[in-house]
This record gives sequence, structure tokens and C-alpha cells, in this order.
Amino acid sequence: MPTKHAVVIVGGGPTGMMLAGELALAGIDVAIVERRANQDLAGARAGGLHSRSIEVLDQRGIAARFVSQGEKHTAGVHFHIPLDIGDFPTRHNYILGLGQNHIERILAEWVGELRVPIYRGRDVSGFSQDDTGVDVVLAGGELLRADYLVGCDGGRSVIRKAAGIGFPGWDPTMSWLIAEVQMSEEPKWGFHHDAYGAHGIAKGDGGVLRVVLTERELRPDTEPTLRDVSVALIATYGTDFGIHSPTWISRFTDMTRQAAAYRDRRVLLAGDAAHVHPPIGGQGLNIGVQDAVNLGWKLAQVVKQTSPDSLLDTYHAERHPVAARVLRNTMALVALRRTDERTKALGDIASELLKMDEPRKRLAAEMSGLGVHYEIGPVDNRHPLTGRRVPDLDLVTMNGPLRVFTLLHAARPVLLNLGPGAFDITPWADRVQLVDAKFAGTWELPAIGAVTAPTAALIRPDGYVAWVGDGPLGLVDALTTWFGPPAAGTSVRG
Ligand SMILES: Cc1cc2nc3c(=O)[nH]c(=O)nc-3n(C[C@H](O)[C@H](O)[C@H](O)COP(=O)(O)OP(=O)(O)OC[C@H]3O[C@@H](n4cnc5c(N)ncnc54)[C@H](O)[C@@H]3O)c2cc1C
Repeated sequence: MPTKHAVVIVGGGPTGMMLAGELALAGIDVAIVERRANQDLAGARAGGLHSRSIEVLDQRGIAARFVSQGEKHTAGVHFHIPLDIGDFPTRHNYILGLGQNHIERILAEWVGELRVPIYRGRDVSGFSQDDTGVDVVLAGGELLRADYLVGCDGGRSVIRKAAGIGFPGWDPTMSWLIAEVQMSEEPKWGFHHDAYGAHGIAKGDGGVLRVVLTERELRPDTEPTLRDVSVALIATYGTDFGIHSPTWISRFTDMTRQAAAYRDRRVLLAGDAAHVHPPIGGQGLNIGVQDAVNLGWKLAQVVKQTSPDSLLDTYHAERHPVAARVLRNTMALVALRRTDERTKALGDIASELLKMDEPRKRLAAEMSGLGVHYEIGPVDNRHPLTGRRVPDLDLVTMNGPLRVFTLLHAARPVLLNLGPGAFDITPWADRVQLVDAKFAGTWELPAIGAVTAPTAALIRPDGYVAWVGDGPLGLVDALTTWFGPPAAGTSVRG
């Protein structure tokens, strides 16, 4: 008999780890199957976390673990100009510089504390699904059985391919060499621009030198050698600075693709398995982690059968457009890397615009993830908070001060009542926390500014507002839509 788990996640990268943590917090029997024997990562990949990613970690009470090991920067660079978010109304109004190897290590420690089993050094070769579950096939023939399978297995996702889910998009037009090496001569540090694009040499972790070189022509996605890097360095700088002892050499391109569907019945995709784009702008890991936070609580409720399976369709509906915007953004950034005079003129205009407050705020909200807006609830008279992230307000409660994000640590929804009236949500009391509190300050959202203070807000476990109101109108519908029908034997009033 195959070993059974409620959810099997293929891939223990950042997305798979985050999703496993979310499911474990909800009490779901989840396991990860990971090809790598341990969490070590060959080479540096992502260089940090954007604001919204740090916020979602804060919502689970683990942001400090990352922040204490990274370096805060108030601005990212976009179209060659700094995109400052220092004035954004969030506790995390910065980009956290922290290597992906550290991010993965800290996530793996958290998942370990939550006692998620990881089948390490195992490769998933395929699956078959039926009406009641999924058989997950490991190389060597071993089988696992799951109610649901999530492919967090990166851009070359076996799960996406085996599900027959299309991956439309754009073929690469440019390629870059990336390497971690030693050099016997002092290199030219920092960025270097020439007719072919931007190149860079910087100090990486543990005394290695990190080299990124724009290739003169698009090269196929094959494994480059030290000689390829040496030749490219000589072509660019006139010398290879005595390059030696590589610990990692790779190539990336501007290939840009997105899964046509994030779900096929009992199989879902998240992270790079669902979207790939060039790393310019540093967003891939970030949107993968946020995919996981969107999917985790929904999948948990469906597994527990407190919500219908159709709740899972909102995962694609909400997250596909977010990644589509990121893909669009990175395509624009690649286009602006061209070095001809007309592209430079376009880049100058973009830079001028981004020095103005409104365009800066709008793009920075998008890049930081703070501007995410899900289409939730009726369109008429929708409060601007609906579908947006709840700010981490300092509340006053009967039991003392309390941050909103603290209420989300256990990944459970909250009805936050800030008004004088009382709410009765007895039929959902097993699933939704009711918190009476006061908040005297203004409600301010990134890029939007101040909004009318709500009397009450229904907050999903991912920190997005599902309903805003000053009485029960629409609340029962919102509770039912997001957290399932009333408990059996209870009656709904109001
Ligand atoms: C050079 C470079 C720089 C980058 N910089 C940034 C940045 O600054 N910011 C940012 O946000 N992103 C950046 N990225 C992107 C980021 O690295 C990815 O978006 C991120 O790793 C995606 O996480 P994931 O968990 O979805 O997939 P992955 O990290 O690819 O993890 C997939 C996991 O699945 C495992 N796996 C795959 N197939 C199988 C299988 N069949 N069976 C079992 N296990 C399997 C793999 O071993 C891996 O552990 C960069 C990427 C590159 C290449």
C-alpha cells in the first residue's frame, strides 16, 4: 500500500517550504518530496525579500528570523533609478538583502519545527489522479497517495508537464552568464556597461566573487564552462582577472512563461512551476512565497471539507493576474536593457517619470507586493480595503495592546470588530476568531493613501480583507464564500 498524506508537495524550494508551513499550521498531514539530499543550494539565486514577503512572514511570527540575518535597503533600482519605499505605511518599508540559501535554510528550520516530513533525495517522475486522490510516482517505483498534489518543482516542473498544463509565453532573446569564482587579480568591481549591456562583479558570501555577464548573443540553455566565463570576461574587460576555482557556473535567459492554469482537478502549481521570468527586479521567489500563502489556507479548508473544492479555483483567479503583471514588468525591464539610442531615450523618459511621486508609488507598490489587489466581493460600493492586505495596526483590546499581524500567527481568519456594536458569528466560531478592539489612528494603504476607517473587517488567513462593513449586511455571504457554510446544527441570524 502506498504511504498516504492529505497533501504531497513536490519540491522543497522556497515555495514548497512556505506552503508546507501554511498547511502544517492548519493541522493538515502534508509531506514534501525533494530531489536534493539537503537544503544546500548550488550557487546564489535570489538576493532578498520584498516588503510584502516580509509582511507575510511577520503574519506568521517568523519575520524576525529573516530580518536579523539580512541587510535593510530602502530602495530597489528600477529603470536605473532608485525606487524608494521608505515612505510606505508598513513596518517593513525596505528590501531585505538576504541570499536564497539563507532564506531556504530559515524556512526549512520553521517547517522542521512544524514537523513536516520531507522525503529527501527522491525524484518524482509522474502521477495519476482519479476522483478520490492522486498517486504520486517516485523514481524507482515507490508510490505515495495524496488527496491533493502541489507542484512546487520549479520552472522545469515535471508536475506541470505530466498534468498537460500549457506553459505559453515568450522564448528567450538574451542570455547571461552567472558564476561564483575566485580571481587572482583585483577585478573591476560593480557595474560595467558596454554596447552589449550591463555586466557586474561583486563580493558574494564566504569570500567568493559573483560575476554576471550579458552574453553578446543568445546562447542555448546549456551548462556553461569556466572557459566560457573566461572568454566572456576577456571580451568585456580585456582580461579574465585570473579567474579560477569556480564553485558555480550557470546561465539564465529572459524566457518568460506562465502556466495556462494553476489547477487541474486535484493537482495545483505554485512558484516557478507556474511562472518563469528573468530575475531582473528580484521577484520570482517573492511571488512564489506569496502564491503559497494564498493557496495554503484554501487547500487546508478543502482537505478538511469545511469549504467546497471550488474554493481552489480562486487560487488561479487571484494569483494568475499577479504573476502576469510581474512577467509584463520584467519584459519591460529587459527591453530597457537594450543599448541602442532609441531604447536609451525611452529609458530616460521612464526614469523621469519614476522620479515623480505618483508613478514611483504605483510601481513601487507593485514591485514590493504591497499593491496586490484581489477582486473580492461586489463591485458596487466596495470599500477600498476589500481585496487588499490588512495593515498591521496597533490595536487596543480588553487584554492590552495587540498588533493585527499577531492575530494571524496561527493562520486563522479574523473578524475584527472596531465599532461599538456586537457581532454574532456562532455558526463559524470553530473557524473564525472574533476580536473586539479599538484603533484610534488613520488607515493608510501603500500607493492609495488614507482610506475611511472600517467599523469591522473580515480578514483571511493570508492577510487580505474579504469583507468590510458596519453591520451584518453581506457578512454571512462573505463568511460562507471564504470559510464555508455554517456549522451543522447552528442557525444564522442577522
Ligand atoms: C540568477 C538568479 C537570480 C535570482 N534572483 C532573484 C531575486 O533576487 N529575487 C527573487 O525573488 N527571485 C530571484 N530568482 C528567482 C528565484 O530563485 C526563484 O523564483 C525561486 O527559487 C523559485 O522558488 P520555487 O520554490 O518555486 O522553485 P525552486 O527554487 O526551483 O525549487 C524547486 C525545488 O523542487 C525540486 N525538484 C524539482 N523537480 C523535482 C522532482 N521531479 N522531484 C523532486 N524534487 C524536485 C528542486 O530540487 C528544488 O528544490 C533568481 C533566480 C536566478 C536563477
